[in-house]
Amino acid sequence: DVSEVRLVSIKSEAPELLQFDRSDESLTVYFPNALNSQTDYQLEIDYSVKKPAAGLYFTASTEAADPDLVWTQGEPETNRYWFPCFDHPHERQSTEVIITTQAGYSVLSNGKLLSKTDLEETEQVRFHWKQDASHVSYLVTLVVGKFEIVEELWKDTPVQYYVPPKRAEDVARTFGRTTEMIEFFSSKFGIEYPWEKYAQVVLYNFTSGGMENTSATSLHDGTLIDARAELDTSSDWLIAHELGHQWWGDLVTCKDWSHIWLNEGFASYCEVLWDEHHQGADERDYHLFQESGRARSGSALTQPIVDRRYEHPTRMFDVRAYPKGCWVVHMLRREVGDEDFFRCINRYGIEYSFNTAETDDLRKVFERLLGLSMERFFYDWTERPGHPELKIKTSYNNANSQVRIEVEQTQQWEPFHFPLKIEVRGKGEEKAVLDEFITDKQAVYFLNLPSAPQLVRVDPDYSLLAVIEEDKSRALWKTQLESAPSIVERIRAAEHLASSAASENLKLLKDALTNDPFYGVQIEIAKALGKTKVPEARDILIAAIDHPHPKTRNAVVGALTQFENDTTVIEALEKKLEAGDDSYNVVAKTISTLATVRQNAPLYKTIELLDRDSHRDVIRRAVLESLGYCHDQRALDLLLQWTGPDRYHASRRAAMDGIVRYIEENDMPVSQQKQIVTRFTEYLNSPSPLTRRSASAALGKIGEGARSSLDKLRQLANEDPDGWTRISAEAAVKQITEANDSRSEIKTLRDDIEKLRKQQEDLGKRVDEFDQP
Ligand SMILES: [Zn+2]
Repeated sequence: DVSEVRLVSIKSEAPELLQFDRSDESLTVYFPNALNSQTDYQLEIDYSVKKPAAGLYFTASTEAADPDLVWTQGEPETNRYWFPCFDHPHERQSTEVIITTQAGYSVLSNGKLLSKTDLEETEQVRFHWKQDASHVSYLVTLVVGKFEIVEELWKDTPVQYYVPPKRAEDVARTFGRTTEMIEFFSSKFGIEYPWEKYAQVVLYNFTSGGMENTSATSLHDGTLIDARAELDTSSDWLIAHELGHQWWGDLVTCKDWSHIWLNEGFASYCEVLWDEHHQGADERDYHLFQESGRARSGSALTQPIVDRRYEHPTRMFDVRAYPKGCWVVHMLRREVGDEDFFRCINRYGIEYSFNTAETDDLRKVFERLLGLSMERFFYDWTERPGHPELKIKTSYNNANSQVRIEVEQTQQWEPFHFPLKIEVRGKGEEKAVLDEFITDKQAVYFLNLPSAPQLVRVDPDYSLLAVIEEDKSRALWKTQLESAPSIVERIRAAEHLASSAASENLKLLKDALTNDPFYGVQIEIAKALGKTKVPEARDILIAAIDHPHPKTRNAVVGALTQFENDTTVIEALEKKLEAGDDSYNVVAKTISTLATVRQNAPLYKTIELLDRDSHRDVIRRAVLESLGYCHDQRALDLLLQWTGPDRYHASRRAAMDGIVRYIEENDMPVSQQKQIVTRFTEYLNSPSPLTRRSASAALGKIGEGARSSLDKLRQLANEDPDGWTRISAEAAVKQITEANDSRSEIKTLRDDIEKLRKQQEDLGKRVDEFDQP
């Protein structure tokens, strides 16, 4: 595969020059004599490449504010833009990269640094990197830039952190647990970390969150955590994810993009394993709870995880590969138990080391080692879309001391097969457990329990990706909120109790918002209270606005968005903004919530906050987005300035979103949107994929008024070398054309109504005529 590469010559080992042909995307080499299929041959390809459209990015030449930086992004198939290769995950090779650059720059690539030579005469430096162990093309990396490099060791393996100048002080806070993670994964999988070093590099303007290039992971520019950001977030999940890929993705690679969940689902589950190890069961379950919501959304509802029908590989990197893939790994672990699960994972890892695998390979390892058929598991969870929707009704018969449990699968189509546990607790130590393998859409079970149930625990070990609806008494829900052992049970109780918004339920939630020992439960309580939209819930939220946990405070402020135009809320938020907060996220959330609830936002109230630096610019972004609610031309001018190429990419995107909001809030006529649309359309030509994606998304949201950008957007949707830009351009085209369609539909409707009105008028006249004496 070759793209935009200029080929000079091709030699075999003789050395003799060979004939070759190239089409747009591939290279054909002609040998003078037929080759023996059993013999190895070497080929030397001399080529050059200048300003490739993808794969290799020179940030200094793209965005004015950027530092001088070169980095690559090969996944899924963009490394072919800077070197000829077999650009598909089924083919492995060793790689060697020799780079000459200006003195003062560092160069990072895969494998081991064989040499670094100063070339004094030319004031240059040459780095020689080599990776002997095989990996696939998309994992080849090259980074050039000025970095502070911090290094430590795990056993004898160098562990390095490449960070932008002056950020070394954030390394320990951000990356401090890396060697512990390497140790933990090595022992959990029973396979030692397999590469010669582990480097992590933080890159400005990087187009992905992270990329697990073999032994040299690239990370986005918000990865480093400063002291205040630590209140809101940690990068552990990202670090664990990319490190997990060094086994699942790099050592064992999916054979085809249709099996990408073997990379992403496993790496996402490494985040869960790390949480469980480092912070315990509550954190693990909350992580899974959040993933569960995403795993039951979008494409996961209509397409299976393993799907060979994709137009381009980027399409496969969605909620099916990540959160749903993560849940499938979790369910596999729960179904066979920890000991067997890790034994099988170890065997799978060893058997397919330095090789490629597909979903059946994983299934067969489990079947062979455990003597079970796993066909149905893999059919239900990887070959069909959706998930079980369960209705569970529990009741107690005093006469015969029996609990009756009715389990129904209400989703369309056939049943899922899965183990289900329900634990019913009575008085004191009394307990009865249902442990069934569910195969039918409807079933009824009976359990003996001497006294009436005090607590009904459905799926107490959180082992099932499902929607669970329960029919049981309020008393049981109350105990569940107050004392259920797992955080997911308490969250489900909170959501259930909030759904009726009865005063007695709100009081329970008020107590739990303060007293529940886990912040994740508090967050979900705050959200549930907001959704009720009743004044009593509003007052509970306002009273909790200075909650001790920063993440809960953030959720409390966010939940207040439900109360638009409410003066009590506006006053409370203004007070909060005035008082400030240690957490960047809470400040940002206060700004954006205030903008949403207070219509007619005064322009210069929050503008001074534009100067505030914060982690990933969260505060500035909130201010920019809130400017969209202003009814003042100066807000628009300011927003347009902030879309400029000299600004940080996340702020540019926020400014574009602010403008979209401004158009809406000010009911701006299509004719006046021209200047904005022209500007955004120009951004579609940016060399930075991040800018092209942001501009596409904004144009799509503008809809109707952005018709003039359609040709350019269609071109991006078909040809852009960056898959995510194609996807966002495609979505924008759809939004704009649909906005047009709905406009013409409205016009047709209007015409129809007008016709009806006329007919009625005529009818009326005739009636009048009849009425005449
Ligand atoms: Zn990943």
